[in-house]
Amino acid sequence: MAGEPAAPGPPDAQAFRRVMGRFATGVTVVTAWFGREVRGMTANAFCSVSLEPLLLLVSVHEDARLLEAVRASGAFAVNILGADQEPLARRFAGAEGGRFAEFRFEPWEGAPRLAGCLGAAACTVETLVPAGDHVLVLGRVRALHEGALAPPLVFWAGGYRRLAEPHAVPAEPIDPFARRAEPIYYDERETG
Ligand SMILES: Cc1cc2nc3c(=O)[nH]c(=O)nc-3n(C[C@H](O)[C@H](O)[C@H](O)COP(=O)(O)OP(=O)(O)OC[C@H]3O[C@@H](n4cnc5c(N)ncnc54)[C@H](O)[C@@H]3O)c2cc1C
Repeated sequence: MAGEPAAPGPPDAQAFRRVMGRFATGVTVVTAWFGREVRGMTANAFCSVSLEPLLLLVSVHEDARLLEAVRASGAFAVNILGADQEPLARRFAGAEGGRFAEFRFEPWEGAPRLAGCLGAAACTVETLVPAGDHVLVLGRVRALHEGALAPPLVFWAGGYRRLAEPHAVPAEPIDPFARRAEPIYYDERETG
């Protein structure tokens, strides 16, 4: 009817990207062998999934050349970047600015490891799940590398960032996998 505000349409990809961009993440480079060639790709759609067994997940675009290597070798490594490794993030995202970034791969468990990262996990492919224009790559962790506990590279609102607060290791780190003994329920009648 005239004068009434138009009903909002379904959200579009640009809005989705803007809202998801509010979620600050670390930055990784996922690596895999493709025959004797190494392939690497910058990825932030990454999360840990399970402790028993050890599983993690990376969402990879269906057209990514990395995916071909992951499928062919059945293995990959996730390399977590430090704050000083932005040139590597740019390099492995195909950005011109990272063209001359220095890096070195080291042979590792089924997949090459990017030297100098904060940490890395070598995985074999557990499952590949098609999801829209991406493929969810679920990996079973076969080896872990602990690098320096140094400030991470952060991605937020479309840009590379640094942590604002001075870096200090917390005395009692929070365990995101810890389960509460007593579940907390809210009664709608009381809160509403
Ligand atoms: C912050 C950020 C997060 C992202 N997160 C994701 C994500 O989670 N999932 C996703 O699918 N995409 C993500 N992308 C996009 C993705 O990084 C790019 O689209 C990438 O170019 C596609 O990967 P590809 O395997 O096709 O790369 P290619 O275009 O084959 O490679 C990417 C770049 O890495 C270089 N490279 C690859 N291997 C080597 C090697 N061995 N030696 C030297 N250089 C090499 C290539 O020259 C190219 O410049 C992200 C991009 C950014 C900036």
